[in-house]
Amino acid sequence: MSEKVFLMKFGRCAWHQCLFCGYGRIKGKEPSIGNLRKEFDSFFGKLEPDVDHIKVFGSGSFLDEKQIPPEGRRYFIQKCRESGIRKLTIESRPEFVKGDVLKEFEGIELEVSIGLEIADDGILDKIDKGFHLRDFEIASRLLHSHNARVRTYLLVNLPFVDDIKKSLDRSVKYALEFSDSIVLINLLPHYRSRLMNMWVRGEWNFLSRDEFYKIVNGWVDNPRIELDVETFRFIPRFPPELREDLSGVGERYLTHPHFEVWQDYLLRWYKIPGEKEILLFLPCSHRKPYSASETHREIIKKLNESNLRKKIHEVMISNAGLVPREFEDYYPFNAYDWDESLETEEIKKRYIEVTSKRIENYLKVHGHRYKKVLCFLKYDSESYTALKIACSNLGIDMMNLLSPETYRRIRGYKRPLLDKRALDDLLHNLEFQ
Ligand code: SF4
Repeated sequence: MSEKVFLMKFGRCAWHQCLFCGYGRIKGKEPSIGNLRKEFDSFFGKLEPDVDHIKVFGSGSFLDEKQIPPEGRRYFIQKCRESGIRKLTIESRPEFVKGDVLKEFEGIELEVSIGLEIADDGILDKIDKGFHLRDFEIASRLLHSHNARVRTYLLVNLPFVDDIKKSLDRSVKYALEFSDSIVLINLLPHYRSRLMNMWVRGEWNFLSRDEFYKIVNGWVDNPRIELDVETFRFIPRFPPELREDLSGVGERYLTHPHFEVWQDYLLRWYKIPGEKEILLFLPCSHRKPYSASETHREIIKKLNESNLRKKIHEVMISNAGLVPREFEDYYPFNAYDWDESLETEEIKKRYIEVTSKRIENYLKVHGHRYKKVLCFLKYDSESYTALKIACSNLGIDMMNLLSPETYRRIRGYKRPLLDKRALDDLLHNLEFQ
């Protein structure tokens, strides 16, 4: 027998104010009975015969009658019965757990997940959870008195917590008293949540996978406890209201917090795509995304000709930091503009200092994943100098696909990397790898 997830995309969370949650702000489809029936019919119509457990996920509360009106809820329960569903898992805030509603589920093993987050009323107020431990306890008792099971979500690493480990121990012990199972969730910044703003301002930071597992280590063998290190595919997405104009040259445009959080993400969360085994450092370009610039278009053409592109991990070196090709069209990498003609000797020095450190840190974390480190950079560029410093500090061999002889001949040109001889070098030297 197996389980199937139903994603509830109706209405909106009645509370929608939790500091860490971006989902609660999303407005779903109008929960009219017509819409609900259509969606439920389509879901149950495609259900494989061996499915006997349905898990309903979605922001908000399945038991909130504004989000799923009673008629829709009853229709869903009826469809569960007709389809032979043995177990149903739904999510709800405590205030929507009512005895008369629970009776409607009789005959189905009901499990209700409640996002308690932490067993601390003071922190629950600070994160604007909108309920207290007493509310959770009342809901839990009511659920148990109707033979339903309680599944409790706890967030690991909430802001305002002084000692994460101690606070987690307390929360787990408390939640075990009132729950049948617990999920320990690694808190990551949701798009459009207030936590995202705190992260960008440096007031809070996420835990890497290793940091998370280290903290929850004492609970891994408990059969009532599950771990969820990544509840969604985490990529730093800046909502429009947080974005800034990042055009300029100077310290602000080198170590801006929006660049720094991305560099931290690349070190502590990012995983190199599986098939990439050759690291190729490339220059950035004035035009964004980089691949729309003439230089990058020509470089990409050559990489495609080499048949090696799949294995090559293209990483651009810029004042915004290192930018893997797959992120080039994300803010802030598609939104900055560093005009080289405005560079002073002092800022060039800082660029080399900051950039060599960024490259070194990146190679320390990810270097072992690559078989080779290559670049296609002008020899007299600050990016090349920074790369050389980083590789020499780490004892890593690095090769410039642009040969020194070719560069001597073309260095006076306005855009030397676009020169046919440079691009021929790129392809030729790549084929010898
Ligand atoms: S965490 Fe739950 S209750 Fe809070 S805003 Fe998000 S969906 Fe609503």
